[in-house]
Amino acid sequence: MANSRFEYVKQFEQVDNLLPNTWIVVRIDGRGFTKLCAKYNFEKPNDRRALDLMNAAAKAVVTEIHDITIAYGVSDEFSFVFHKSCTLFERRASKIVSTIVSTFTAYYIHLWSTYFPDTPLSPPLPSFDGRAVCYPSVQNLRDYMSWRQVDCHINNLYNTTFWSLVQLPPGMDAKAAEQLLSGTLAADKHELLFSRFKINYNNEPEIFKKGSVIYRDYELVEPGNHDVAKTADELAEAVRQSKTQDDKDKKRRAKAKVLVDHVDIIKDDFWERRPWILSNKPGKIPKET
Ligand code: ATP
Ligand code: ATP
Ligand code: MG
Ligand code: MG
Repeated sequence: MANSRFEYVKQFEQVDNLLPNTWIVVRIDGRGFTKLCAKYNFEKPNDRRALDLMNAAAKAVVTEIHDITIAYGVSDEFSFVFHKSCTLFERRASKIVSTIVSTFTAYYIHLWSTYFPDTPLSPPLPSFDGRAVCYPSVQNLRDYMSWRQVDCHINNLYNTTFWSLVQLPPGMDAKAAEQLLSGTLAADKHELLFSRFKINYNNEPEIFKKGSVIYRDYELVEPGNHDVAKTADELAEAVRQSKTQDDKDKKRRAKAKVLVDHVDIIKDDFWERRPWILSNKPGKIPKET
């Protein structure tokens, strides 16, 4: 780099390295999507095209940034998880967050016309904010992921019931629907959906009920009754390995198919069958069939 008398300004840059040996979660969220939904006539409560577009952009991010081990998306948000051993950009928060936000936004806009072929974008263009949070244990990380999926479930049950009351005959006004739902429990909403509209909530699409999980696909492992959190920590420790093994793993990660799934990530089963997500040790690539 050329030396100049101006270079001292570099010293004003703040250190923002994220705590080592912790799980980094970068959550991005659409800015002003309530307005954006209205502008582009998103179907309420769930516009499938908009969800597919979010998933396509997130899939591109996971595919390009190999350090991401899993991502979870619902509504206008996506959480990207970096393994605790990750050293990308020396773990500098602003570099990591801005890279995720800009890569995601670029793909969102690039892919827009695939999902909304008849509705061209116009300013103000879609944009996203982002933040990074560190979680020290697998349990904290799992609880974070569970928190987002429970949020998805609670919001979707409420929104499905609310919009059924508003959109389906006889058609209630929004205020009345809101009042009717205030103080109701999950069971009341299931009952209301079924008795008034013959809608069985359990038959609603999984993508609406569970949100979207994105990860690299390897051969599933038989779930044992081992402690997932403990095993993951042991495996992560064992992964402090040689450079040649690191390179092999990188190649395998690059080869793996990135999958978009709509499944429960709260129970142990998901994590036990896919140990590579927490261990960061790539599994076996499934044989082509
Ligand atoms: P902020 O900039 O603070 O995030 P916002 O308007 O984006 O403001 P959010 O709390 O992020 O507020 O809410 C996003 C809104 O977008 C919600 O009302 C949600 O229902 C709506 N939304 C997001 N995705 C879809 C979709 N696929 N179909 C229908 N509505 C959606
Ligand atoms: P990083 O991802 O770490 O930012 P980088 O390759 O983007 O890596 P920078 O330090 O940001 O590295 O440097 C950007 C490089 O792009 C410099 O070498 C700069 O000279 C070059 N560059 C930027 N804009 C132009 C331009 N308009 N024409 C020619 N070269 C450019
Ligand atoms: Mg938003
Ligand atoms: Mg949101």
